[in-house]
Amino acid sequence: MENIEHLLEKVLSYSPKANIDLIKKAYIFSRDAHVTQTRIEGSPYIQHPISVAAILAEMKLDTATIAAGLLHDTIEDTGKTAEDIKADFGHEIAFLVDAVTKLSKVEFKTREEAQAENFRKMLLAMAKDVRVILIKFADRLHNMRTIEHLPAEKQRRIAQETMDIYAPLANRLGIGWLRMEFEDLCFKTLMPDLYEELGIKVAKRKEESERDIGEVIAVITEKLKQISIEAKIRGRLKHSYSIYQKMVKQKIPFEQVYDVIGVRIITDTVPHCYDILGIIHSLWPLVPGRFKDFISLPKSNLYQSLHTTVVGPIGERVEFQIRTKEMDEVAEEGIAAHWRYKEKEAVDKKNTRFVEWLRDLVKEISDAEEFLEAVKGEVAPDTVYVFTPAGDIKELPVDSTPIDFAYSIHSAVGNKCVGAKIDGRIVPLRYKLNSGDVVEILTSPSQTPSKDWLKFVVTQRAKSRIKQWTRAEERKKGIELGTKLLEEELRRHGTPQAMLKSPKMEEVLKSFSILTIEDLYVLIGYGKISAHQVVNRFEPEKEDQPVTKVSKPQKSTRDVITIKGVDNILYRIGRCCMPVPGDNIVGFITRGRGVTIHRKECTDLERIAVDAERMIDVEWKHDGDVTTQTKISVEALDKPGILANLSALISTSNVNISSVKAESTSDRRALIELIVEISDRSQLLALINKVSQMEGILHVRR
Ligand code: MN
Repeated sequence: MENIEHLLEKVLSYSPKANIDLIKKAYIFSRDAHVTQTRIEGSPYIQHPISVAAILAEMKLDTATIAAGLLHDTIEDTGKTAEDIKADFGHEIAFLVDAVTKLSKVEFKTREEAQAENFRKMLLAMAKDVRVILIKFADRLHNMRTIEHLPAEKQRRIAQETMDIYAPLANRLGIGWLRMEFEDLCFKTLMPDLYEELGIKVAKRKEESERDIGEVIAVITEKLKQISIEAKIRGRLKHSYSIYQKMVKQKIPFEQVYDVIGVRIITDTVPHCYDILGIIHSLWPLVPGRFKDFISLPKSNLYQSLHTTVVGPIGERVEFQIRTKEMDEVAEEGIAAHWRYKEKEAVDKKNTRFVEWLRDLVKEISDAEEFLEAVKGEVAPDTVYVFTPAGDIKELPVDSTPIDFAYSIHSAVGNKCVGAKIDGRIVPLRYKLNSGDVVEILTSPSQTPSKDWLKFVVTQRAKSRIKQWTRAEERKKGIELGTKLLEEELRRHGTPQAMLKSPKMEEVLKSFSILTIEDLYVLIGYGKISAHQVVNRFEPEKEDQPVTKVSKPQKSTRDVITIKGVDNILYRIGRCCMPVPGDNIVGFITRGRGVTIHRKECTDLERIAVDAERMIDVEWKHDGDVTTQTKISVEALDKPGILANLSALISTSNVNISSVKAESTSDRRALIELIVEISDRSQLLALINKVSQMEGILHVRR
C-alpha cells in the first residue's frame, strides 16, 4: 500500500530538488477534502489519490503533475472548486485538475456514445496538455488494479472501455508498459478463465525454457565481452494478451506460439545494435521473414528496435530485441519521457515531436477501421479534427471548409480568406476538411466576404459572421447612395446643405418614424422613400412649385439593376442608349430623378456627365426572366413589304416589338426605328446579326 512518505521518497529519487512542500500541501488538502469518504473495500479514500500520484512518480513526472494527481478527485467528489485549487496551488495545477475532472464528468446515453465522446475529449485534452491524459491514465490504471472490488457489471464496463480507448491510446503515445498492463488487466477482467489457463501454460513454458534462455544469454555475453561491447541482456516474457492475440490471429494453439519468451539486449550505440545483430546471426540460423529493422524505419509511435528470431541451441525459437538505452526509454515511456521532470525548465507543451505525434494519431484513428469501430457510435463521424500550422487542434463539424476554419480562428481571418494550403497544397475555398489536415489560411487585404460563401459553409459562426458583414456592407452602400441622392436634391431646390444639421432635421426624421439620419440615407438609397419627399418636408411652402416627378421605372426592368449590394434602388433607364442586361452600365445621379442607367459607351452620357461625383457603379442582377426595352435603328432599301418582312423575322426570333417608327428619304431609303423587348445583350446581338443579313437591309445599329 502506498503512503505519502513513500511517494515523497520516490519523487526525491529522480528529482532531488523537487518542491516537496507543494506535494505535502496537496496531500493534506486532498486528505482533508476526502476525509469522510472511503473506498468501496473500506480503506480511506486518500489511498486512491496517493496511488495515482505514485504511478505518476513512477513515470518520473514533474511536481505539478504529482500534485494534480493527489488532487484529481477533489472537484468531482468533494465540495472543492477549481477556484479553491487555484487559490491554494496556482493556475497550472488548477488547470490540470479541472481538465481531468471534465474528462469524466458528462453522462452518456449509450456505451458507444460514451466512448466516442470520451475519446474525443481525450484528444482535445491531450492537445492542450498531454499531462492531463497521463493523470487520467494513472487514475484508470489504479482503478483497474483494484477493480475486483466493484460489482461484476461495472467491472466489465470499465474494462471494456479501457481496452477500447485507454490501451490503444497508451500504445499510440508509445507508453509500452502501460499498454501491456492495461491489456492484461482487461484480459483478466473480461475473460478470467482464459487468462488463468494461459497464465499456467506460460509459467510452465518459462520453467522449461529457462535453461535454454540462460545458455543463449551466457553465449552472447561471452562474445560481447571478447569484442568489448557494453550491453545489458535479459530474458523477457511476452504479456498474456499479446500471446492470446497471436493465437486468435494465426488460429493456432498455445503450443505453436514459439516466441513466448524472448531476449532483450540494450546497448550504448546504434552501430553496436547492428554489430550485436551480426553476432546473433552468425551463432544461430535465423528464421526467415522475422527480421525487422525498426531503427531505420521507426513505428509511428516512434518505437525503435531491431527484431530477429533464430533457432536456438536446442532447436527452440528465440526472439531478440536489440536497441539503445534511449530507444528503450522511448519504447517503455513514450510521450511521458518528454514531460519528465526537468530542473528549472518549463514544460514544453508545444514540443514539436509531440505535435507530430498527435497529428499522426488523429490521422490514423480517423482512418483505422478497427479503432473507429469502438469509438464511432453516432458521434464521431460528425466531427473532424484539424490543425493550425502552430499545432493547435480545431474541432469542426464534418464538411467544414477552409472558410469555417478561418472564422474559427478570428473573424478578421475569415473575412480576408482567399484560400488555404492543406499539408502544403493549395485547395479551393469549398474544399472539405479531413481529420489530420494541417490548414494554413491564405488571406488577402483586398478580399471581402461573399454571399456565395453561405452556400457551402457549415459552422454557425461562419454563417453569422458572413451575414453580419454583408448586412453592414449593404447598409454602407445604401448610406453612400442615399447621401448623394439627397444632396443632389437639396442642390436642385437651392436648399442649403446645412439644413441636414438643423433642428428641423429631427422633425423630418420623426415624420418618417426613424431615429438617425443614417437610417434616412439608407431608406433613400434603398428606394423606400425618395429624396424629393424628404426635401418637401424640409420646405413644405415650396410644395406647390412644379417639380419634375420621379418617373416610374419601366416595369419590366424594375428590379434587374442593383448598386453592388443594394437591392431596390430607385432608377430609370436612359432613353438615349436603352441598355439591356449584359451591357456595361453606369448610374448617373440625375437632379430630381434618382439614378439614371446608361450604357458606358453612351454618347449622351459623355455630354452630360461632367461631374464624376455623380456617377455610381451599378450592375445587373442575374434574374434572367425579365425583358428590357431597347431601340434598334435599321436602314433599308425602300421597297414594298420591307417592313412586313422585318417584323416577321423579328417575331420568329421570339422577340416582341413594342413600337415601330418608319420614314422614307428622298433617295428611296427607309429609316426604321424599332423598340423591342430583349432579355439580354446576347439575344440583342443575335437579332441585329440576323436582321442585317436580310435582303434589302443596308445597315443595323443600336
Ligand atoms: Mn480517481
